[in-house]
Amino acid sequence: MTLRLGVIGTGAIGQDHIRRITDSLTGAEIVAVTDINAAQARAVVENEKINAKVYENGHDVINATDVDGILVTSWGPSHEEFVLASITAGKPVFCEKPLARTAEGCKRIVDAEIAHGKQLVQVGFMRRYDKGYRALKNVVDNGKVGAPLMVHCAHRAPSVSNFSGDMAITDAFVHEIDVLRWLLNDDYVSAQVILPKNTTLADKGLQDPHIVLLETKQGIRIDTEIFVNCQYGYDIQCQVVGETGTANLPEPLSVLLRSEAKLSTEILVDWKDRFIDSYDTELQEWINSTVKGEMHGPSAWDGFVVAVTADACVKAKHTGEIVPITMPERPVFYDKFFVLQ
Ligand code: NAP
Repeated sequence: MTLRLGVIGTGAIGQDHIRRITDSLTGAEIVAVTDINAAQARAVVENEKINAKVYENGHDVINATDVDGILVTSWGPSHEEFVLASITAGKPVFCEKPLARTAEGCKRIVDAEIAHGKQLVQVGFMRRYDKGYRALKNVVDNGKVGAPLMVHCAHRAPSVSNFSGDMAITDAFVHEIDVLRWLLNDDYVSAQVILPKNTTLADKGLQDPHIVLLETKQGIRIDTEIFVNCQYGYDIQCQVVGETGTANLPEPLSVLLRSEAKLSTEILVDWKDRFIDSYDTELQEWINSTVKGEMHGPSAWDGFVVAVTADACVKAKHTGEIVPITMPERPVFYDKFFVLQ
């Protein structure tokens, strides 16, 4: 069976997903698209040479009878509306992060999905599909470093455009929030944010870097440096320190060059290049499980947990306090948690 997909939002990531589904992945085709900018949606259909109908709005895509599943790739504040409408229509929906603009919005989606009675929602936290993070999880899950005690992370980007306010947390660090609880099979209980000396190379008024300290239920301490104007490259680091060893996230594959009296490797500069394989795997696995009527990836509950944790981090940043993270018990509905296909 070929899964017939409708895409809401044909901006940067919407176009990337359309391209990968059309050119690289198997088992799905794009049959419907929409964007608030209709001319852009039409241009994407033409440029990508796909046989898709351009609809006036997201609801028409969701309700189209020949659409089996939905990809929500529009801007963040519109996600909740389209995910809720997909649940009402009983259609599987892959929603790029964030699941909703607020934790309350994410909770409304969780409640709607539980009321519907079947898991339909997956959130686009693609790091869980990165080969390196999967290898690291395998090492940790198999006890190769003993019980994890600490995790040291860095999330560095050369520069950012259109970043404002707390986006280092709400746009960038959300990926660590998701992947680290998946990596450790644990949840967070508190957050603290330390503000180091500011770089002079960030946009005016923007704090950069941040150090975020998270504590988990098991007492594991996580420190993450978020530095989004580091200049030199896109550099994601993660080291798990356990009772009997340490395990590091592998570096992306790069040729070791001996030349001109130097030993060197290149560092990537674009996040898209760093995680390109993860996006492919993420969507291919979503297509495969959706065709089987299953859902294995980051759930609406995971989207909710990330939103609650990000809110605590933002509060910690602005108050300078250690902020407790309180979460309702995970509903039994989401018990098949952290499944790898
Ligand atoms: P983008 O280039 O601005 O694309 C978003 C598109 O959605 C734009 O074409 C926008 O139109 C359109 N849009 C806005 N409201 C809409 C609505 N109500 N109905 C239909 N279309 C609507 O942004 P992007 O970079 O692709 O990001 C899209 C989402 O993906 C964001 O939530 C972002 O956080 C997420 N994302 C995730 C990752 C990841 O690593 N997982 C990476 C990149 C992006 P206008 O431009 O005319 O407003």
